[in-house]
Amino acid sequence: MLIEELTQALERFVRESPQNYVGDGVALVPADVGERLYDTPLVKVGDAQDPLWAGMKHPEAVGPLFRTPEEWLPGAARVVSYFAPFSDFVVEGNKNDPTEVGNGWLYARVEGQAFLDNVNHFLEQWLRNRGYKAFSPYSSPEFQSVFEAGTNPDIADKKLSFTSNWSERHVAYICGLGTFSLSKGLITERGVSGRFGSVITDAPLPVTVRPYKGLYDYCTMCGACMRQCPASAITLEHGKSHRLCSSYCERMRLKYAPRFGCGKCQVHVPCERGIPGRS
Ligand code: SF4
Ligand code: SF4
Repeated sequence: MLIEELTQALERFVRESPQNYVGDGVALVPADVGERLYDTPLVKVGDAQDPLWAGMKHPEAVGPLFRTPEEWLPGAARVVSYFAPFSDFVVEGNKNDPTEVGNGWLYARVEGQAFLDNVNHFLEQWLRNRGYKAFSPYSSPEFQSVFEAGTNPDIADKKLSFTSNWSERHVAYICGLGTFSLSKGLITERGVSGRFGSVITDAPLPVTVRPYKGLYDYCTMCGACMRQCPASAITLEHGKSHRLCSSYCERMRLKYAPRFGCGKCQVHVPCERGIPGRS
């Protein structure tokens, strides 16, 4: 079966790629050399004709900039979405201090994201080698993310909103990987701590049945992420303020340049490594 072969190839690529391990040239301390950034990915498949894609253009979803799979790749049939959980090295290392960002988290946000771009390109090539079209919007030069006035309802002053033409978390929701969280992450069966990637294709892969109905089905609204946030960017009433989170992360960018990160809302929380109450 094509999906099993694809999943196994992806697992092998993630396990064996040197880019998924902290190298000599980038390690902040010698003890970090050889540590892994991502564990085995979770893979799900969405239908490119799902009516939810068009809904992502709504200002309260991603916004009008969002492009559907068909708009990215004419003839699209499926979207392969994966969740790459952060390794214990990344997650546990970000628990040592309430504000200092762990080395692993810093690598995962910068070198780790560069690795995920290569994972996306690996999936594109794997599918193309078998005669299918494949395209990863996030890892293409056409990917665009902008601050745009008034497109995000969680920002009260309407002057600053974040939107993009492809959103991996929204894609993952449609493809059946998980549901949104108070902290504006996505809770999967392997938790919230990790990153997402995706590829659009015309390959006839079996579509995953979404095991949820609501946007927030997996979040218990326990408020633990809110208490963890050093920027007070999360409230039970309004969820995460992108503006407050971004300005805090910009401060972290100055402190940890050329890296950045925070992620305190994704550690020491019940959704860190699974769906709360279901482990
Ligand atoms: S910590 Fe609690 S409120 Fe926050 S995202 Fe996780 S389950 Fe939801
Ligand atoms: S990333 Fe940091 S600043 Fe942003 S919401 Fe999470 S804990 Fe708060």
